[in-house]
Order: sequence, then C-alpha cells, then structure tokens
Amino acid sequence: MVTSQLPLWSDKDAAEGWSVRESQRARRLTVRVFHTGRVEVVVPSRTSARAVERFLERHRSWIERKREEARRRAGPALPFPPPRIELPACEETWLVHLADGPLRARIAASGAGLLTLAGGLGNGQSLRHALRRWLTERARQVLAPLLAECACELGFSYQRLLIRRQRTRWGSCSTRGTISLNCCLLFQRPAVVRYLMIHELAHTQHMNHSRRFWHCVARHCPEYRGLDRELLDGWRRVPDWVFGDEAA
Ligand SMILES: [Zn+2]
Repeated sequence: MVTSQLPLWSDKDAAEGWSVRESQRARRLTVRVFHTGRVEVVVPSRTSARAVERFLERHRSWIERKREEARRRAGPALPFPPPRIELPACEETWLVHLADGPLRARIAASGAGLLTLAGGLGNGQSLRHALRRWLTERARQVLAPLLAECACELGFSYQRLLIRRQRTRWGSCSTRGTISLNCCLLFQRPAVVRYLMIHELAHTQHMNHSRRFWHCVARHCPEYRGLDRELLDGWRRVPDWVFGDEAA
C-alpha cells in the first residue's frame, strides 16, 4: 500500500483532506479535486510511492488551482446545526429547532416543516448523524414515489430502489435492475431530479453510455444536456453537514 507514504505538501494539506485510493481496475494514476477541496488520488495496485510522488509533482499547479477555485466558491462556513434546510426537489423548507434531551441526538419531524433535534447538543457528530439519517429517510419518502411514477409514465421497469449518501455519484443502475439514488438529490431542482431518474431508468435498457442510450434519454428528456451539466455542478448546492467532518 502506498497510502502511508503519500507525499503531502504540508500539514495543512493533510488536515484539508487528501486520500489515496488503490484500485484494482485503475489503469493509470488519476487525481480528482472535489468541490470541498478534498483531493483523491486513484492509483493502480502496486504503484510505487515514488511514482505517486512524481505524478503529484507533475500535476501540482493544476491541483492547487482547482483547490483555490473550490475555496473561493465555498465562501464562509455556515453555522451548524443549520437553522433551516431547503429541499428544492420537493419544494420544502424545514426549520430546525434545538431542544434539550439525552446525550445521543434524536430527531423528530412534524408535518409542518419543523425538525426538532433533541439531545446531543454538545456533540456535533451525533447531531450530524441524526440529520443525515433524517435526510436519507426523507429522500426515500420523496424519491421512491417519483421514480415509480416516472417509470410507469415512460414505460420502464426496475427491481428496487436504494437510497445512498455518496460523495461522488448521483445515481446508478445495476444489471439486476436496482436503481440507487443519492439522497443529495433533494437539494436539486425537480427538473434535474427527473432527468437523473430518466438517465438511470434508461440504463435498465442500455447498460452503457452509447449513442442509443443517449437517444433514449433524449426522447424522454430533450433538455438533458443542460440538466446534466447542472447536476454535475449540483454538489455545490449540498450543505456542508451532509458530508462534513467525516474521515476523508
Ligand atoms: Zn449513466
């Protein structure tokens, strides 16, 4: 494993989140800078630390530039817990109310758009976990009927739906017809969510990104190009608490 010998440029880099992931499938070294400024280097197995070092040296200015852009876009850190949570996908606004309670945070949602976070007040991590659990559950409640409706309307079928919280993918479709959707879709506009659903449903017929696949997408969603771009940029609309303070 090369991880322990990852050449960091400074202690600050380590604190800001660098990771090296060894991949069986990777054919060459790649580096990716996320919207949060986190850097992930993917290396084929059995890559030497020296090779990683040379690779990073070569791409150093590109990485720095991307991280600078990410920092500029991020702006000042928002308060946690957030006073309100906006979910454009379902046009909901939830107000967050903090209450005293047990050590471990609990969350209660009322139909009136009020989230009561009880307990765990001194423990940001416990609050984050509670909020994330709620977000995943809300995503299931909102996205499951939307996907079913979309499939029925357009004549697609799938086996089941999984809701996941991933940093890098909005959705996927397995060969067995399992569609996974990212709970962060709740932070996107309804048109974008619908596009992604059509994209994944089209994969139930075309397990690739071939021309026929895109024709299929275009047939049901003619404006897919703009929506796809918007989705790529959609990570910026995901609040910090969804992923923040996790091991990189
Ligand atoms: Zn796809």
